[in-house]
Amino acid sequence: MVEEELRVTSRLGLHARAAANLVRVATQFQSNVTLERPDGSVKADAKSILSILMLAAGRGTHLRVVANGVDELDALNAVVDLFGREFDEIEVTDEEQARRLHQEHRFKGLGVSPGVVLGRVVRLQDGTRNVYRARLEESDIDREQKRFRAALRQSRRQLESIKERAERELGRGHAHIFDAHLLFLQDNKLTREVEDYIDRERANAEWAAKVVGDRLLSIYTEFNDEYFRERGSDIEDVVQRLLANLSGEDRAYPSFFEDSVIVSPDLLPSTIAELDLGHVRAIATDAGGWTSHMSIIARALGLTAVVGLRDFYHRTRTGDHIIVDARVGAVILHPAEETISAYNFGSDTGATLTEENLTDAGPLLSKDGVSIVLRANIELPFEFEAVKRYGASGVGLFRSEFLLSRPGLMLSEEEQYEAYRSLAVAAGDEGAVVRLFDVGGELDRESTERPERNPALGLRAIRFDLRHKEVMRTQVRAILRAAASGNLRLVIPMVVDVNDVKLAKSVIAEEQRQLAAANIEFSPVRVGAMIEVPAAVLTAEKIVAEVDFVELGTNDLVQYTLAVDRGNDAVAYWFRTLHPAVLYGIQRSLNAAREAGIQAIVCGEMASTPAYSVLLVGLGAVDLSMAPASIPRVRSTLSRIDVKQAREVAATCLECATAMEVEEIVRTEFEKRWPGVFHPKALPAKATEE
Ligand code: PEP
Ligand code: MG
Repeated sequence: MVEEELRVTSRLGLHARAAANLVRVATQFQSNVTLERPDGSVKADAKSILSILMLAAGRGTHLRVVANGVDELDALNAVVDLFGREFDEIEVTDEEQARRLHQEHRFKGLGVSPGVVLGRVVRLQDGTRNVYRARLEESDIDREQKRFRAALRQSRRQLESIKERAERELGRGHAHIFDAHLLFLQDNKLTREVEDYIDRERANAEWAAKVVGDRLLSIYTEFNDEYFRERGSDIEDVVQRLLANLSGEDRAYPSFFEDSVIVSPDLLPSTIAELDLGHVRAIATDAGGWTSHMSIIARALGLTAVVGLRDFYHRTRTGDHIIVDARVGAVILHPAEETISAYNFGSDTGATLTEENLTDAGPLLSKDGVSIVLRANIELPFEFEAVKRYGASGVGLFRSEFLLSRPGLMLSEEEQYEAYRSLAVAAGDEGAVVRLFDVGGELDRESTERPERNPALGLRAIRFDLRHKEVMRTQVRAILRAAASGNLRLVIPMVVDVNDVKLAKSVIAEEQRQLAAANIEFSPVRVGAMIEVPAAVLTAEKIVAEVDFVELGTNDLVQYTLAVDRGNDAVAYWFRTLHPAVLYGIQRSLNAAREAGIQAIVCGEMASTPAYSVLLVGLGAVDLSMAPASIPRVRSTLSRIDVKQAREVAATCLECATAMEVEEIVRTEFEKRWPGVFHPKALPAKATEE
């Protein structure tokens, strides 16, 4: 055994980052290394970050370092050196720290819903959850501990990727904080205590993590040291992450400013739907992509949104000033006065600059006289009013699953009937297409043993519906009954071939028989299929023979054709709507529908983008459905282009080998053929290297 007494000389003492460095050094040796107060009152394991932090060793504290084992001398020397180097910390003065904290900072993301907003940050994490206590059977303890370990692994993976990016973009100094988070996760004190608690108290993992986390947190908050108290938020972050990964409870909302900008790691669509829209001006999230449902809802609500900002959330504090500029897909934290004036927000600090004025409806004809129909995609009942306001020809897609605001919460037939009836009324003569629930395992969380390994390829959409016949039958009955009071159609999501169509149609036919037998008022509906996976594209000729119409879901078609998860910002570079393979799929499906003499509605987000809508028309589409707020912009664009020329451009694009080639053609040809119609920002940006 060897030992040495040392003094902590670094300005901030042995705080989280310094402790993390100490753990890193101590764990390189086999020997046990401990730190003790010289009077022996507190002792810490130098390989445990929590244990070290509990020493609360501020600047000037004397500590005895004891090493014991085969390489004890080397271990002691390494620790002594580290003390001498003041734990390898980069010293930053208070002034510098304050300056950095309030310095203007620009972060790049993806603008998914238009507008430019100046407001104040309200942080919202899917973390402040209601944690419940469950009493376990003896036989469940092992499973519960495994569940906890799985959440640990998942949290670790998430933190590792955050850290990697912080290292890449901000340098080692800033990435250290995530080292500390990772070490908390690996620390025996946390993990063993939670597992012991599960065992001893027969408690569920959420409860155990919360109790142990709160206990550690209270140690921090008792410290008579501002810095240590603040570091408690690191533990809180980690515990919240663990809880988020363990469960999907809903959470309490913070109070909003009148100019709130929600900043969050991620937002569930149902969360956005529940926000106080009188106050929320914009959304900025770490995760997400153009077609994640969160973005779709933001567009539908007319809420400015920038997503895919990676680890932006961690840089913000509630109350910080922020500009969200969706035109260039960026946010500016702590904007300087000059920046704000350059934006010219005027005296109203919450001003939103909208790019379009609304125009009235009327038949839409392209410049060369081709008639094109624009419909609305709707998610929530309060959007019904937007159908008229934006001059949509009815509802091309009602994403009915948004009626189910919480996992496990199913609506009764009566509740659904009421919703579909008001939809039919709002849609008017043009009618509405109700999609059968497009949900996955998350709706069935109660009875699902484990989350699916690959939800996008799992029991989703029509597969889920066919497996949960009661859910499907209830919905079909509600649609058939509501169809008696208006023009409703029904569409089957994510079919892979004609077999899915036949199975769904037989359920519909059976429900019609039952309603007729029971003398309940209903109306038969036309049935369509969504073409959104490559298998359906490649067998489209067979599918169109079985249905009354088809809808092309371009969001999923891109996802499945290119094998890119539509909600994963790490692969956003590969989510290329204009990939020739996608264009080919669209053309093939449209041709199949035309030859069979049935209608084809293109209803993914592609239709909402003016430049893309021109290509769709060039590929043969004459019926587009989009976020209502996008209708005026698409309408004005399509009325100024010639379909004949759009066809020529589309034909050239189909010859391309890559998305970049198509994007280049769109950039150059559109400006050449229709000068001034497209703002340069409305055309695909030049691709940057991955
Ligand atoms: C699509 O996939 O393009 C579509 C319209 O449906 P959703 O975005 O709801 O999957
Ligand atoms: Mg889809």
